Amino acid sequence: MRKFYVVGYLAAVLIVPVELHAQQAGQLPVLKQEAAAEVDKLQALTQQMVDEIFSFSELGFQEYETSRYVTGILEKNAFHVEHGIAGVPTAWVATYGSEKPVIVFITDIDCIPRASQKPGVAYHDPIVEGAPGHGEGHNSGMAVNVTAALVLKRLMDEHHIAGTIKIIPGVAEELLGTKAFYVRAGVFKDVDIVLGAHVESEFSTSYGTGNGEWSGLVSVQYFFHGKAAHAASAPWEGRSALDAVELMDAGWDFRREHLRPAQRSHRVIINGGDQPNVVPSEAAVWYYFRELDYPHIKDLYEVGNTMAESAAKMTGTTVDHKLVGSAWPPYLNKVIAETQQKNIDAVGMPKWSEADQTLAKALQKELGAKVEGLKEKIEPLSEPAKKPTGGGSDDIGDISWNVPMVYLMYPANIPNLPGHSWANGVAMATPIAHKGSTAGAKVQAMTALDFLLQPQLVQQAWEYFRNVQTKDVHYETFLSPDDRPAVEMNKEKMEKFAPQLKKYYYDPERFKTYLEQLGIPYPTARTKP
Ligand SMILES: [Zn+2]
Repeated sequence: MRKFYVVGYLAAVLIVPVELHAQQAGQLPVLKQEAAAEVDKLQALTQQMVDEIFSFSELGFQEYETSRYVTGILEKNAFHVEHGIAGVPTAWVATYGSEKPVIVFITDIDCIPRASQKPGVAYHDPIVEGAPGHGEGHNSGMAVNVTAALVLKRLMDEHHIAGTIKIIPGVAEELLGTKAFYVRAGVFKDVDIVLGAHVESEFSTSYGTGNGEWSGLVSVQYFFHGKAAHAASAPWEGRSALDAVELMDAGWDFRREHLRPAQRSHRVIINGGDQPNVVPSEAAVWYYFRELDYPHIKDLYEVGNTMAESAAKMTGTTVDHKLVGSAWPPYLNKVIAETQQKNIDAVGMPKWSEADQTLAKALQKELGAKVEGLKEKIEPLSEPAKKPTGGGSDDIGDISWNVPMVYLMYPANIPNLPGHSWANGVAMATPIAHKGSTAGAKVQAMTALDFLLQPQLVQQAWEYFRNVQTKDVHYETFLSPDDRPAVEMNKEKMEKFAPQLKKYYYDPERFKTYLEQLGIPYPTARTKP
């Protein structure tokens, strides 16, 4: 008898939330419509966030103004913000709610060196010469995610929807600098679903290895130490650290022929010595080693270390190295992608104006790229590439191997651009970015509602994660226990440019848009070819 009482009691407790979910799931189409309408109402705020973060133009690890601004908005809206997560001063987690499921929105916030560019101008015209700028469009991501989160908070309050929404910034994504550290710090431990968002010229999502153009990587700096001497009167007393850098680079280029075609590796010399008449006692080179999977990335890293040590031996110098970034190749969740695709289809492409298309075509012409304007059609969800080729990297990869995740590509930029350059900043504080961010926010909010209201969908996403994605591949971090986030990076560059950029920070109190503040007619194209 007693046993029955217990079972009966438990059933009563358990049935209530299930019924509530079922009722709410029935309302899902209506709630999604409401979410889209609420996102539309927040268009002015979305635009302000796009423009404000564009004007801050902060490089990786130095996103102080951006973080202050975004967390300010979230705190004002009753999100609880924890700052400085995983030992990264500009990283934070903003949380609303305390129940299951826990849904994380993530998007990057850092910009690109030397990419300063006046928005709406279809040729190279920097706001501040040589300064960083949003030449990747990361300024729009928080506008997408914060807008979606504010709308969800409203709906959760109004309709008593259970769950937790968290927002996390991708700090120093261009350096692949933080997300492996977030994972190591346990930031995703109790998270059910991760919805990432990234700027694109198309509206799409993907699963598995996607189009196959993802690589993972390690980013490593090699520091050579030699012996200074007068380069003319006593060169035999010196040992050149620069010689070692050059030999390492030459060695790597010979070895390149005998590496798999999937590898991608590139370098910059970050210290080449001071002046020619001093034998350089210190020199340093920075490599990105990219490959398709964990074992091959590890192997490439080993080859790099061997090259460095051999170059040191040849030159009588010593070397040490520091891992400053790492990323697994992303692997995205099929269940979430299929759910998200339906929302992309429902939202549809933004309505581009004549002016938007004119800007896009003028920029494409300026660059000698294919002139086809902005995309008008949505991309269908396609099968993952059978043979991945590799390409760029994103440290969301590490998250995707720990929690079911998708990566929404929202249409806020112009197609056929070179990437990581001033050209990719042209559209990023114009109506193209504003409308694309609004469209992205709708999909983020609607997809979150799908998972908040259908617990079985969360379960299915985890089944795919456990039984398909991680059946044979197990996540292992590239980080050694002593690796720390490289939080000092870009400090000097930002200290140099921040005072000049400050004069151009967007003031939404005085100007409706950043274009208006800068006095740029939209669009501005060359009058003569
Ligand atoms: Zn990016």
